[in-house]
Amino acid sequence: MSAIKLGLIGNPLGHSMSPFIHDQIMSAVGITASYELYDIRPEDLPKYVPFLLRDLHGFNVTIPYKEEIMKYLSDNDESVSTIKAVNTVFGGRGYNTDFIGFREVGIDMKDRRVLLLGAGGVARVMAFEAASSCKSLTIQARNTEKAMRLAEDIRRYVNRDDAFSIDVMDDDACPSDAHYDVVLNATPVGMWPKCAQTPACAAVIGPGTTVFDTIYNPPATKLVLQARKAGANAIGGLSMLVNQAIAAQKIWFPEVVFPDHIETQVMALLPKKLLARSPMKIVLTGFMGSGKSTVGQMLAHRLGIAYFDTDQEVERVCGMPVSKVFAQDGEAGFRRVESAVFAECVNQSGAKTASACVISTGGGLITQESNRNLISQDSVLNVFLDASMDCIWQRISSESHRPLIQYGTEEADRFRKAAELFDVRLPVYESTCDVKVSADDEPEVVVRNILKALGYGG
Ligand code: NAP
Repeated sequence: MSAIKLGLIGNPLGHSMSPFIHDQIMSAVGITASYELYDIRPEDLPKYVPFLLRDLHGFNVTIPYKEEIMKYLSDNDESVSTIKAVNTVFGGRGYNTDFIGFREVGIDMKDRRVLLLGAGGVARVMAFEAASSCKSLTIQARNTEKAMRLAEDIRRYVNRDDAFSIDVMDDDACPSDAHYDVVLNATPVGMWPKCAQTPACAAVIGPGTTVFDTIYNPPATKLVLQARKAGANAIGGLSMLVNQAIAAQKIWFPEVVFPDHIETQVMALLPKKLLARSPMKIVLTGFMGSGKSTVGQMLAHRLGIAYFDTDQEVERVCGMPVSKVFAQDGEAGFRRVESAVFAECVNQSGAKTASACVISTGGGLITQESNRNLISQDSVLNVFLDASMDCIWQRISSESHRPLIQYGTEEADRFRKAAELFDVRLPVYESTCDVKVSADDEPEVVVRNILKALGYGG
């Protein structure tokens, strides 16, 4: 056991990523120290803090103690006096490195209209950073009193000579006619395990909007994915998380050099860790020949997670090729089995513990309402592999196992049949997906683009 002790205090701490992130940063720069979780009940805090201040080299602070810890500290860094929240302690002094982590993300707010969702600890950090240069700041929160207090603090502490406005809005209000250049989510809405949720501000997001979501699990929330679909530039919170941890390390170990590549190095290790703790199901949809099976297997391999193919599952359950199931039970019979195996893959009802996986689906799976409902579940991300009809036809024209474009008829008839089906299904793939990735490229490129879009690397 290392003599240098670090840690995180909070309550509840659950599956905090902090020990993993700090261990990776320290191992990359050769620091030998331990980083432990201290889950302390509120009534025990006065008893434990003096020991922690004495025995630990330094520590992080999270919900609900970011404000309360200040009364135990002898001194605070300048940033803390306005933000009124401490997330890092060293030598009895309080610091806020969320502020540095957020700044490192590099959201340009100068002269822009900013909508901030939430009025908690991280919202305070972002509000002060926004207020230093933005044109206007609107704080939308379910607790408007808290938001008004934050607005009041900003008016008091941020000195601006130029015109700058700040206002507060109830989070029931969805200002579809309002215009914001930047939307910042500082609420946990959309965080694992309730990943299907999105804040009620989607209507104000469009091309030209910049969206930043502090949530890092999943790395790309539905808010981020929907914003990108609407043409916005959207970023998830993983890089802020890593940067605030690096900033804390720099405070604890001022003599150590932390090279710039540490952020990238640690970010690359996080996806597998997140997926192991939060079993997302990545569902690949798209027309026959869009490469779902090849890409799906490669993607699952890259992420170190399980792989399922609904066609293979149908064949396993029925004990015969898909073409025979069609011949024997018709399309309706096939769809019944396909929906049952898909539900099994998504819910993993036979497994003791659910784990993350990639599921390649048959081209028509998405036409069934029950399957669309499964795809919109909390733990599912739907990636549409968007291949052009030309590319698809090159891949499938000589294949004989596709029952919906039967082999043996004239090539022109088969092409017409495939193209008609493609035109019917395309809007369904488009409207139901979280992410659309071009599938005309080589599989390696497609996999890389999926990983990048979902924030799992790439
Ligand atoms: P916090 O102090 O508890 O504040 C959360 C804010 O969200 C509060 O305004 C809260 O409202 C609001 N809120 C909570 N649930 C809501 C809901 N269902 N609908 C609408 N508003 C809701 O937490 P925090 O420390 O600021 O953290 C906020 C988020 O930032 C979390 O998701 C956290 O994971 C993330 N975070 C990310 C990083 C990073 O480095 N990426 C760092 C820290 C935190 P009330 O006041 O009414 O409860």
